Amino acid sequence: MKILIVEDERKVAQFVERALVEQNYTVGVAASCAAARDALAESPYDAVVLDLGLPDGDGLELLREWRAGGFNEPVLILSARDAVSDRVRGLNLGADDYLPKPFSVDELIARIRSLMRRHAGIKTTSLEYRGIRLDLLARTAIFEGKPVELTSREFALLELFLQNAGRVLTRTFIAEKVWEAHYDMETNLIDVYVRRLRQKFDPSGAEPLFKTVRGTGYQLL
Ligand code: CA
Repeated sequence: MKILIVEDERKVAQFVERALVEQNYTVGVAASCAAARDALAESPYDAVVLDLGLPDGDGLELLREWRAGGFNEPVLILSARDAVSDRVRGLNLGADDYLPKPFSVDELIARIRSLMRRHAGIKTTSLEYRGIRLDLLARTAIFEGKPVELTSREFALLELFLQNAGRVLTRTFIAEKVWEAHYDMETNLIDVYVRRLRQKFDPSGAEPLFKTVRGTGYQLL
């Protein structure tokens, strides 16, 4: 699951980003209204953590635009403006929750989880395939009944494969979905990660889980 953090204070953004990545969420960060608009137009996000005071505008204006445009995912407002009127305005504009700054990161994560859970009624919350079960809310993996430790990127990569079981995924597609802008196509990082997934979920290789499609990418069989 992907979460967009809209926050112009670098320290706060990094702090929230680190906490969410630790919880195995895939995270994007935007430091202005313009960057947030671009981020949401470029790729789908499952939730947004939204600061209000941004250098080029007001987070509430962004929220109004997104809701008017049909963006339906949970939005949690994170703001130093904790006056009741601001809170009410945010909620009226379609925010799902409001956390005043300063905040505890544990509370932020608990609230995001709860928003996702509430929102999950209409969405898939787990993926199952060939003995692998991914819990998309708890961000945990089980293989043949036993828990498997995954890093956040390993989780994101496996999630992508399970969502596209049987399809050949190109390196470019995988890089865009799992690494976003941070992937250097000159490296063989995707191969390294697929090898790790093979070690964790396909140790014997007797019935291979992934097929290498030469020159193209990989397929979850
Ligand atoms: Ca701010």
